[in-house]
Formats: sequence, structure tokens, C-alpha cells
Amino acid sequence: MAHTCIHWFRKGLRLHDNPALMAALRDCKELYPVFILDPYIYNNTLVGINRWRFLIGCLKDLDCSLRKLNSRLFVVRGKPEEVFPKLFEKWKVTKLTYEYDTEPYSLSRDKTVTTLAKEHGVEVVYKISHTIHDMDRIIEENNGKAPLTYNRFRTILKTIGNPKKPIPAPTIEETKDVKTPCSENHDKNDGIPTLEDLGHDTTTLGEEKFPGGEQEALRRLDENIARKDWVCKFEKPQTSPNSLSPSTTVLSPYVTFGCLSARTFWWRVTEVYQGKKHSEPPVSLHGQLLWREFYYAAGVGIPNFDKMEGNPVCTQVDWDTNPEYLAAWREARTGLPFIDAIMTQLRQEGWIHHLARHAVACFLTRGDLWINWEKGQKVFEYLLLDGDWALNAGNWQWLSASAFFHQYFRVYSPVAFGKKTDKNGDYIKKYLPLLKKFPAQYIYEPWKAPRSVQQAAGCIVGKDYPQPIVQHEVISKKNIQRMKLAYAKRSADSAESPSKKQGVKRKAKSVIDMLQKKDKKE
Ligand code: FAD
Repeated sequence: MAHTCIHWFRKGLRLHDNPALMAALRDCKELYPVFILDPYIYNNTLVGINRWRFLIGCLKDLDCSLRKLNSRLFVVRGKPEEVFPKLFEKWKVTKLTYEYDTEPYSLSRDKTVTTLAKEHGVEVVYKISHTIHDMDRIIEENNGKAPLTYNRFRTILKTIGNPKKPIPAPTIEETKDVKTPCSENHDKNDGIPTLEDLGHDTTTLGEEKFPGGEQEALRRLDENIARKDWVCKFEKPQTSPNSLSPSTTVLSPYVTFGCLSARTFWWRVTEVYQGKKHSEPPVSLHGQLLWREFYYAAGVGIPNFDKMEGNPVCTQVDWDTNPEYLAAWREARTGLPFIDAIMTQLRQEGWIHHLARHAVACFLTRGDLWINWEKGQKVFEYLLLDGDWALNAGNWQWLSASAFFHQYFRVYSPVAFGKKTDKNGDYIKKYLPLLKKFPAQYIYEPWKAPRSVQQAAGCIVGKDYPQPIVQHEVISKKNIQRMKLAYAKRSADSAESPSKKQGVKRKAKSVIDMLQKKDKKE
């Protein structure tokens, strides 16, 4: 039987390596590619304007690629469980395909939609392609639990073997018998909304540094892969949080939205490695993709992964409630230029380097402000182009030493850390131009500059730029003691491994270890 099929694009906003789309095209006479603006995911409290712009870019690019296959994208607004029964009837649908998604909301949404589809006599086909591996299989191989260390995770992967090879995008030849019936008013009724349609004031938008879409993703991948030597030597801790142009690939927004298949990324890197000496996980590019898989497995196997309470791997900490501190951090007015420059870059551009994320996340939580990591997670989710449920939750737990990483006594200094890779403070000058006339000696600590220096720089601390909201040397010591108590309580409450109980040094190197090693070399 030839099918009338809906392919439901959610993540996976691409044609290459899209097995669910290929399944839709099999025995298909009519194809309806659909994207649903689900208010649970896409609303203006969860998604900031930069990420909206990125999403719209992805959808436009997808529509453009579909047109080349004589098809179009239908953008529908509403809750999936309300939208689908109407579409099933309107288009007389017989098959629904989509990419498997392991986030808790997605799993329950897909269960509901699958039940509705079956009630309407619609066959449902889903495929795994958002992650390199099948997360359920990893958990199964680890006796039903998410691996809690990277090493354990890699051991499990060895039993699973190499990832599948990506599949090519469908060709016009493969789709020649497939039609997408469209009305003349397609753009008006089912087209892609503009930012204005979505209620955004676009006058404040900055330059679009990372446009959304599969074409841009593949171009960016090619550009990175072409630097073969760089790919082979890539070691994450050696990249810089504050270089003026990104020192890592910035493929994360594309992988998050699925404009780029993680498997394609993996195999392209593999091709570069062939016959050459190259870096290894956890620091290599393959290693970075494995971190992504690691956190995805954790997100599947650990209940309440995006919360402190009810999350069995998360240390329970008596975080403070301090809306003023939180707002100062979010709005880049902590008075600590390195932190404020990073938060400004995040607000303006929607992407910051991994170690910059380390610096501001540590500062917000265990380092200085003693605010619950869940608050930071929400701010990141809103501002990051690559905002990803599992990666965001996992990394925030790591940085706040709540899970995965337990050396809470290792705290990033908001002054010294940035200096390691940018003595002159050029990054600070770029994002906080107000401070650009400060001499290098004071750029990280403008409050220490004599009044005459502040006057000459045209910026008086306390008037034009805030005084630091905390004294790092004092507060960080106090916070280490508070963290020590949280760990002591944790080990009293449960029988845990001795290393977690006391936060003692692990054998595996931390990023801080590696940075310190780098320092010694220089
Ligand atoms: P590259 O170094 O070029 O790495 C290649 C790819 O590997 C990335 O695109 C990404 O898909 C993956 N990757 C790299 N580092 C990590 C990591 N530590 N954990 C998991 N996957 C990784 N990343 C997100 O994609 N979404 C998030 O919401 C997110 N939130 C974070 C929150 C905090 C507090 C921290 C410390 C990190 C967070 N990260 C998140 C992880 C990491 O910072 C970004 O993936 C990375 O900086 C993206 O830049 P890139 O593409 O240049 O990375």
C-alpha cells in the first residue's frame, strides 16, 4: 500500500542522516513534512530571541531543501496531541515517522501521540539518530543504570562497537513519485513565522554570528574538518575560553537542533584520524561527542535529572535564595569583568566557550554566589543557542560539584582564570567596551585601580561600572566549608564510595589539573 505520511520534524532539522525521513519516503505517495510550534517547548519564557532566530533559520533552510525535492514544510501551531488528530483526518494519513527523542517531556508526548495515531489507524515509525548510540541499549548493557563515570561509559561502548554510518539525504530521484499537496496560501497558512509574528522586538538584535540551518551546519563542519592538523591535535583544555574568535567548532547549536547529525560529525572526524597520530577522549573531538552521549545516557537513566530534589546522584546543597545576586549574574553586572564579559557574550551572541561556561557556572554556584544550579540552568536554557536539556543539566551538576565531579575545593578564580589565556583583557574590552581604556594591570580588577587611573579610563567603579558584588577570596573559602558540610551530610545519609564522601582527588585529571599543567609548561 502506498502511504500518506507525515514526517514530524522536531529536532533532526535536516535531510542528511535522517533515517526516519527515509522511512517516511518508503512506499509513500504523499508526504507532509510537519514542524509543530509546541507551546510547551517553544514559548517566550523558555526560549530567548537569539534561539528563536536560530530556529527560524533552521526551518527556512529545511523548507528550502524540501522545495528542491518538490515538497514543502508545514509549520503548525498548537499542542501535538490536539494538532495530530486534526491532521490525520484532514490529510487521511496512514503513516507517521519521527526521530526518537529521549527527553522526559518528549517521551511522554510521543507516547500520547502514538496512542492517538493508533486510534486513527496510523502506523508509527521512529528511528534513533539524535545521538550516535542507542541510549536504552547503553543503559541495558550497564545493568539497567546510566554509567556515572566517563570511563565506565567508554567501557560500555566497547561492548557495543562502532557507531552506525550516517545515511545520505534523499535525492530528487528517490522522491520523484512522492507529492506534497500544498495550497496556494501555503506561506500564509502553514508557512514559517517571523520573529515579529512571534511577538519579538527585533530592534535590539545583534549580528547573526551563527545562522541556523543544515546548509550552514555542513559548511561549518567542512570548514572545521578541513583543518586536519587542528582536528588531530584538538585537546579541549588547551582551547581558550576568551579568544576573540571561537577556539572550538561552535557546532553545538547545529547538533542540538539536529541540523548536523552527531554521527556525521563523528565519522567525518574518524576519516581525518585515519593513519594519523591524534588526541584521544576525553579531550579529543571524539571525546567531546562522547561527553554528549554520556550526558544523554545520564538524562535517560537518572530520575529528575534536571533537578536537585529527587535526583539520586545530585548532592543536596543548602543553596541561598538571592534574587539580587542572580539578576546581577544574569545581567552581567557582578562587577567582575571576566564574568560580566562572558555573560554579555552569552546575551549578545548565544554561544560561549565551554571553559567560559565553567567560569560563570562555578561563580554562580559553589564558587561565589551560592545559588542553586537549577537557576543557572534556566538562564542558560533561555540564552544559549545550543540549549539542550541533558547537556545543560549534566554540566551544571558537574560545575556545581553536585554530581560527576566532586573536587569542590577546586574553585575557578574570576580574576586569575581569564588572565591565563588573555593577559591584556582583550576579550573583556570587546564585550565590556566601558572598560576598554583600563590598563591591563587593572582590567580584571578595575576596583583596585587608583582614582586617577579610573578617571583617565573614563570609568569610575561604583558609578559607571559596579563594585564587585562579592569578595572572591573571602566568599570562596566560606563556600568550600559549606560544600564540605553538604558532602559530609551526603555521606552520612548514604553509604557511598570514599572518594565521593570526602571529595578526595580522583585519578582522572580534571580540566583545572590540565590547565595547571599547561601553565607549568609555559
Ligand atoms: P566542541 O568543543 O567543538 O565540541 C564538539 C561537540 O561536542 C559540541 O558541539 C557538543 O555537541 C559536544 N560537547 C562538547 N563539550 C561537551 C560537554 N562538556 N558536554 C556535552 N557535550 C559536549 N552544550 C550544549 O550543547 N548545550 C547546553 O545546553 C550546554 N550547557 C552547558 C552548561 C554548562 C554549565 C557547561 C559547563 C557546559 C554546557 N554545554 C552545553 C557543554 C559545552 O560547553 C558545549 O557543548 C560546547 O562548549 C559547545 O561548543 P562547541 O560546539 O564549539 O564544542
